[in-house]
Amino acid sequence: MKLTYPMQTAPIAADVPRSHRVYFEVFGCQMNKLDAELMLEGLKRKGYFLVHDPDDAGVILYNTCSVREHAEERAVMRMTSFKKRKQQEPELIIGLTGCVAQHKQEQLSQRVPWIDLIVGTREFDRLPELIEEARGESSTLLATDMDSPLEFVRQRNLGPNRWHAFVSVMRGCDMVCTYCIVPTTRGKEVSRPPDEILDEVRRLADTGVKEITFLGQTVNSYGKRLGQGVGLDTLLRGVEEIDGIERCHFITSHPRFLRPKLIQAMAECTKVMDYLHLPVQSGSDSMLARMKRTYDRSFYLHVIDRLREKIPDITLATDFIVGFPGETQEEFDRSLSLVSEVGFDHSYVFQYSPRPGTVSDARMSDDIPLDVKKQRNHQLLAAVSAEAESRNQRFIGRRVEVLAEGPSRLDESRWAGRAGDHRIVIWPVQDDEEAGSFVVIEVDRTSSATLYGQRVTGPTQRPTLQISK
Ligand code: SF4
Repeated sequence: MKLTYPMQTAPIAADVPRSHRVYFEVFGCQMNKLDAELMLEGLKRKGYFLVHDPDDAGVILYNTCSVREHAEERAVMRMTSFKKRKQQEPELIIGLTGCVAQHKQEQLSQRVPWIDLIVGTREFDRLPELIEEARGESSTLLATDMDSPLEFVRQRNLGPNRWHAFVSVMRGCDMVCTYCIVPTTRGKEVSRPPDEILDEVRRLADTGVKEITFLGQTVNSYGKRLGQGVGLDTLLRGVEEIDGIERCHFITSHPRFLRPKLIQAMAECTKVMDYLHLPVQSGSDSMLARMKRTYDRSFYLHVIDRLREKIPDITLATDFIVGFPGETQEEFDRSLSLVSEVGFDHSYVFQYSPRPGTVSDARMSDDIPLDVKKQRNHQLLAAVSAEAESRNQRFIGRRVEVLAEGPSRLDESRWAGRAGDHRIVIWPVQDDEEAGSFVVIEVDRTSSATLYGQRVTGPTQRPTLQISK
């Protein structure tokens, strides 16, 4: 899916020079989108403006993602589409940023030598100065040092919803999952100091942000190498003290690092949402070993038990991979049986496909036929959906607090928002709906993914609500 990040905040004055009009295409995961947001904020501070048409831009940037299939080919194709224009307009600046830029820097600088900039995952904070440097260069400028200390000071939220912001707490990953390219493209795990993060959250709260999502590749291992007992629990407890922030959650967690201290903080902090995304990837021990996930099924189940002891009604989401090299029917059946054993509320299911640069691509054969992958994908999704549908029934008759987001995409006579456990909630629109405000919905119907109901009071704020559980 192509995403052009919706960050324009005001119409551009006619006298803004072309050299300071930026077109920016963003691909990939939430981390990539946040990186793009941070890059754009840095550019805006230096007088650049975002435009939505590349023909109107003097700077064209493309934030790449290695997780996408044929990522290098796509980047080359996109860059090639600008080749003729670059020949006619030498002052045009064209740059690649992100994971592919980091991982494939040499191949890219040979295959698309007319581009001006290749900026990796640890140097994007220098983007404005790199663009200026590239203006005087005749060859491609490479900024791909993996040891570079990434520094950014974020003043405000440029994301699509003014009341919600992602906050990066760490970069990189120390794990070695055999299917994953992240440790190569983003390097070893580095955590930001807690004071810096909480200052950023305070600034965001001052601009009207109410909900924070902490982001990291293994976000719950946050704090490693910071010492003095600093962990994700430190941040959750810190957010509890920040006026204006009403909700917070974090993605993506690794089962290995869901420790008692963190679970305790999740249970005690009123602003932490009753929601956890905890990717399991497979229910089979032999598959988990081949993926090098560093836990087995019983460890995962033990962690879930510990979590539900403290937060019995927590909503659980996960990820599965189907069709990983060598996956037997028996191994797949172990994933299937885990769905009901855990009682997942939601799952993403990915059909395995090899990614260049990963261990599974180099050393394992992609030997599961596509039709088998598709069939397993379908079967697993159906199992999760049936499980979620039956689990959602417990909400009927309950009142849930919802952060209103806007009209439903499917039916404009209804509004949509998120409950405190991240579930989508839909209700008939009323005259006084306001995006970013809290409302109370009494649930009268559910599906596998959604709660439906009626607003039962006027506009309300959280401290005055009586939520029935
Ligand atoms: S934990 Fe595994 S899957 Fe997640 S980013 Fe690290 S290496 Fe990749």
